[in-house]
Amino acid sequence: MIPKFEASSYEQTPFIDARNWIGGEWVEPSGDRVLPVVNPRHGETMAKVRMSTASDVDAAVQAASTAVEDWKQWPLRERAHVMYRARGLMMRDIDELSWLVSHENGKIFAEAKAEVEKGIECVEYGCALPNIAAGNQLEVSRGVSCEVVYAPLGVVAGIVPFNFPFMVPLWMLPQALVGGNAFVLKPSEQVPLSSLKLAQIFEDAGLPKGILNLVQGDRETVEALCDHPGIEAVAFVGSTRVAKLVYGRSAAAGKRALCLGGAKNHLIVVPDADVELTADNVVASYTGCAGQRCMAASVMVAVGDVQHIIDEVAKRSAAMTLGQDLGPITTAAAVERINGYITQAEQQGAKVLVDGRAASVGKGGYWVGPTLLDHVKGEMPAAREEIFGPVLSIVRVANLDQAIALENANPYGNASSVYTTSGDVARRVMNEVEAGMCGVNIGVPVPREPFGFGGWNDSKFGHGNITGWDGFRFWTRPRKITSKWALQKDATWMS
Ligand code: NAD
Repeated sequence: MIPKFEASSYEQTPFIDARNWIGGEWVEPSGDRVLPVVNPRHGETMAKVRMSTASDVDAAVQAASTAVEDWKQWPLRERAHVMYRARGLMMRDIDELSWLVSHENGKIFAEAKAEVEKGIECVEYGCALPNIAAGNQLEVSRGVSCEVVYAPLGVVAGIVPFNFPFMVPLWMLPQALVGGNAFVLKPSEQVPLSSLKLAQIFEDAGLPKGILNLVQGDRETVEALCDHPGIEAVAFVGSTRVAKLVYGRSAAAGKRALCLGGAKNHLIVVPDADVELTADNVVASYTGCAGQRCMAASVMVAVGDVQHIIDEVAKRSAAMTLGQDLGPITTAAAVERINGYITQAEQQGAKVLVDGRAASVGKGGYWVGPTLLDHVKGEMPAAREEIFGPVLSIVRVANLDQAIALENANPYGNASSVYTTSGDVARRVMNEVEAGMCGVNIGVPVPREPFGFGGWNDSKFGHGNITGWDGFRFWTRPRKITSKWALQKDATWMS
């Protein structure tokens, strides 16, 4: 039984060490390496996590493949009932879950609560599956009918990043579990604690033992998941570099794979944009979760004369209170990486309008304040590469053609937005940008359920979205059944 996480403020609060959850038992991973789980606000260890080996992965797959034999016989509606009960428990414990996310990841409490709420929205999609997962049926010839049913794959796996420890697993679990599979989840080694609560919630909600399993670990564990012959499908969310590796390795082992990668999201701002709405929204997009989300604005493409909007963005950025409006960065190494990008852009000629490099809050922790870089050129790393921190690079262009060309020259394709009061401008940008999730006057255009989440180009490897109906289709396979019960008098080629 996982104990209650007692925090109700940002004060450093310890928690139990992470473990594996295999076949309904909490077990210690068998690897040699133990990593600290550090609260980024304080820079202090709140728990530890030992890495799993290939033999731990094998134990989880064995438990899952035994348990799935019964689970896949349950009617889909009964499997969905587990989601209803899990949703109730998540609502009951929402503050506790949010504080745990906040402590292990660093994001402020309001952001952590929004993460848990979005996770719950994904669970609600799982609750709704009995009403949307009916297959088609048609009489295809006289007395001959064809129907489609969605069969489980068997044992499947998910590998998730550090930035949404509660929500991203819930992009995968509702559809995979209600679809009749058993799941092996590999949380991020930086934030393994929320997964303990998640497993406990599903256990308390009546999920049979062995249907959800956790293996804590890092690269070695992931490689064992990709290679294991007992796993039919792998979903991954994380950086593009690792998404490509996991996609290639899983596919080489004959698995179905869907791997979401990193991002470099562009916000195109034109002179007719509403100043207040745009400035508020741009700042919220690039500073939310300290810029550590794959939907965060990273480049503001300033079209023509939008100096009045840039001034407002700068004013709002400078007015933010670190630690209250904006949380810490997850690791010291990430602070170094982010500051490196800022310094490099400055050396290459960018102007630092708001500088977050010297930021600190209290005695410890890992901090970067909101940072606004102006006059960034399209070829600079600050304009091209994922920084993953609260840094907005402003690239000035003369017209909409140049704005769209700049966005489309970037290999990523997660999100793109335009700020305008012109329907014509909005329509053109929405038609022409190379991104899978687009927004008009929205800085974080996350498709809410039931619209599926997933980018394009180097932001995703594999077909379809991870949430919504595509998610259900990813974790299931359609079986087509053709039946004839009546004696047929006439002759067709199906007789
Ligand atoms: P990451 O790629 O470093 O790690 C993701 C997972 O892969 C973790 O579980 C980690 O243990 C594992 N891993 C790390 N290195 C590995 C290796 N060499 N081989 C096999 N497995 C490995 O990503 P992160 O730093 O945890 O998360 C941040 C990244 O995730 C950013 O790039 C962000 O844009 C991306 N992200 C994308 C989405 C999306 O929907 N596209 C959502 C959230 C985060």
